[in-house]
Amino acid sequence: MEGDQDRELLSDSDPPSPSLSPPPRPLSLASFDREKHVKFLEMMYHMLPFHYQSQEINHLTLAYFVISGLDILDALDRVHKDAVAGWVLSFQAHPRSKSDLGNGQFYGFHGSRSSQFPSKDNAIFIQNGSHLASTYCALAILKIVGYNLSNIDSASMLTSMRSLQQSDGSFMPIHIGAERDLRFLYCAAAICFMLNNWNGMDREKAKEYILNCQSYDGGFGLTPGSESHGGAAYCAIASLRLMGFIGDDCLSNASALSSKANIQSLLDWSLQRQVADGGIQGRPNKASDTCYAFWIGATMGTLGANKFIDERGLRSFLLTCQSEYGGFGKFPKELPDLYHSYYGLAAFSILGEAGLKPLCLELGLTEGAATGL
Ligand SMILES: [Zn+2]
Repeated sequence: MEGDQDRELLSDSDPPSPSLSPPPRPLSLASFDREKHVKFLEMMYHMLPFHYQSQEINHLTLAYFVISGLDILDALDRVHKDAVAGWVLSFQAHPRSKSDLGNGQFYGFHGSRSSQFPSKDNAIFIQNGSHLASTYCALAILKIVGYNLSNIDSASMLTSMRSLQQSDGSFMPIHIGAERDLRFLYCAAAICFMLNNWNGMDREKAKEYILNCQSYDGGFGLTPGSESHGGAAYCAIASLRLMGFIGDDCLSNASALSSKANIQSLLDWSLQRQVADGGIQGRPNKASDTCYAFWIGATMGTLGANKFIDERGLRSFLLTCQSEYGGFGKFPKELPDLYHSYYGLAAFSILGEAGLKPLCLELGLTEGAATGL
C-alpha cells in the first residue's frame, strides 16, 4: 500500500502544467537514513570498490570524503584514528635539507602511493608530486581524527607553498605546473588556516585574483572571464572568509569587503540556482545535482543568507538522490558515489538534519574538527 502511494506521488502521469507555472515537484516520502549512510561509508573505509581504481591518484581525497562523512554522521567510532593518522602522514614529502626549500618544489602531501613512488618507466618522472588538493585533504583528515598539527613541519610546507602562487595571485597545484584557478587558491587558504600560519601565501594578491573572477552576472568563474559556476562561487567566498576578508555580518556590511566585490549580485545569482524541482544547479540551464546543494548552500550560508533557500524543496530533492544502499547519487535514483555522498551529507547538515554535526562551512569539515573540540 505504501509502495503504491509512493509510485503515485512520484509518477509523471500528471497532465502538463499550464504555461508559466512550474512543473510539479516530485514528492518524496523517504526520510534521511542515517544508519545506511554510516554502513555505506564504513564499507568504503574498509575497501573501495574496483570502480575507484582509476582515481587511485586521488586516494587522499576519497579518504577525506569517507572520514569527514563519518564525522558529519557522528560515527567516527567506526574508524581507527591512530591508524588513519599514520597512513595519512606516510604521504608527506620532506625536503632533504633546508637548501631544498629554494628549489621551487612544494613539500606537501602526495595524493596516493603510486604518485609517491612513480615508475621510472613513466614518461613524466616527477620525484616530488605533492599537490595542494591532497595536502588540503591530508590536513583535514588529520584534524578530524584529532592529530596535533603542530607536530608537522609546517614551516617547510608553507615556505615551499609560496612558490606555487603566481604573480596574479592564483595558485598552481603542483610545482610542475597545471591549471591555475580558484580551486587551488582555496586549498592554499585552507592549508594556511588549518596550520594557523599565513606565511604560505600573499593574501592581498589572492584577494585581487578572487575579485577578478567575479563575472558580469554576479557569479564567479574559476578564472577571470570564465563562466560563473557554483563550485567557483564557494571557492571564492570560502577563501575570502578563511583569509579574514569576510566577517560574520557580511550581509549587512557587504560594502566593507571591496567596491569590486558585489555580494548582492552574487546572492541574486546563487538564489536563481535553486530550480523548480527544489534542487540546486551549478550553472544556468543545467539539471539539479546533489553536490551543488553544498557548493551553493555553503556559499549562501557563509554570507549569512541561507534563510533564503527553499529548505523543504531542497530536502525533498536530495531525498530523491538518496540511495537505497546508503550514500547519494548525482541525480535522482542514480547509484551513489563518494563525492556526491559526501556533499549530500554536508547539505543535510546545512539543512539542520537531526543527528548530524554542524559544519564549518568555509573549511568543509565539522565545526568540532575545525576547532579541535
Ligand atoms: Zn555534482
